[in-house]
Amino acid sequence: GGTIGILGGGQLGRMLAISAAQMGYHVIAFAPEDDAVIAQVCDEYVSAAWHDAAALKAFADRCDVVTLEFENVPAAPLDAIADKLAPHPRALAIAQDRLAEKRFVTDLGGTPAPFHSVDSREDLLAGIAALGTPAILKTRRDGYDGKGQWRIGSLEEAEALDLPDAPCILEGFVQFECEFSVILARRADGLIAFWESSENGHEDGILARSTLPGRAIIGEQVAEARKLARAVADKLDYVGVLTLEFFASESGPIFNEMAPRTHNSGHWTIEGAATSQFENQVRAICNLPLGDTRRVAPRVVMENVIGPAAATAHEALRDPGAHLHLYGKIEAPEGRKMGHITRLAWPEGDSNS
Ligand code: ATP
Ligand code: MG
Ligand code: MG
Repeated sequence: GGTIGILGGGQLGRMLAISAAQMGYHVIAFAPEDDAVIAQVCDEYVSAAWHDAAALKAFADRCDVVTLEFENVPAAPLDAIADKLAPHPRALAIAQDRLAEKRFVTDLGGTPAPFHSVDSREDLLAGIAALGTPAILKTRRDGYDGKGQWRIGSLEEAEALDLPDAPCILEGFVQFECEFSVILARRADGLIAFWESSENGHEDGILARSTLPGRAIIGEQVAEARKLARAVADKLDYVGVLTLEFFASESGPIFNEMAPRTHNSGHWTIEGAATSQFENQVRAICNLPLGDTRRVAPRVVMENVIGPAAATAHEALRDPGAHLHLYGKIEAPEGRKMGHITRLAWPEGDSNS
């Protein structure tokens, strides 16, 4: 038993709450929205502003442990509840800032895309001179699903670009064969479990699908990527689930970004692995033994259900190997993650008939 607090109200928290409830925990969530999708499945939902330090403290006082499903929580108020938080706010401070996270992984021996800090037009032009084109300008903070990013094809485009009013980072464009992620769960005693790395396909900057097994190049590069992920987790004394995204390139795995939480590319683990990323997040933060992470079907594909596609998503269930997850979001604008479908496949095909 015990009470688990979740910061953030989105689908990652919702799936975490479902796992925690299954294991008998009382689950309370905290987020600023009035209509958070986590509220539909947890025991109690507190809606308050992130910077409401008193509300946050009162929330944490009621919990045995607090974790998060959303990393862009302002880090400063979290220091007051750091003793309850898994992962510790030091992990957030780094993962919230693309510049800080690239420097951090570089120090640990990782290789990010070549980058240049950009706070002005002058910086941008110097960055283009150093990195060439094409390049990608990203806000250092708050980006997700490709938001807050601008592809720059030429010096002229860099000169004409409307610069965002926020600190940015310019990244050289990585020529990659495919993308993959390393997702791990780590307990306070340092024990780590990795899931198999899926091949991640993006469309319009949004994850479209994760496929297992992925291409051969992932198998060739995953050991090096895991070594970096382990170094990151150990350095941060990380407790919980941690994700690192990589580009598989000719010159080895290139670090893209990290997330101090479960990840969309790990949704396949709910039905496709012996223990899901959400269940192992609960186990890790509650100091329970970690579950076996192995894949349980020869082929697993997770497809995101994005925007209006949600209206017909149930049609996927004609495939008996398919599992549908919808997150309870009412509005379905273009580009919004509404749910996902995980398909497990065996070579002998349909065993129901
Ligand atoms: P997420 O929803 O994963 O948090 P995000 O908004 O933080 O996304 P990134 O992961 O930085 O965005 O970029 C989104 C996608 O854009 C990447 O998965 C990749 O397909 C492409 N991309 C980003 N940076 C680069 C780069 N330097 N070179 C080539 N492609 C890139
Ligand atoms: Mg990101
Ligand atoms: Mg990303």
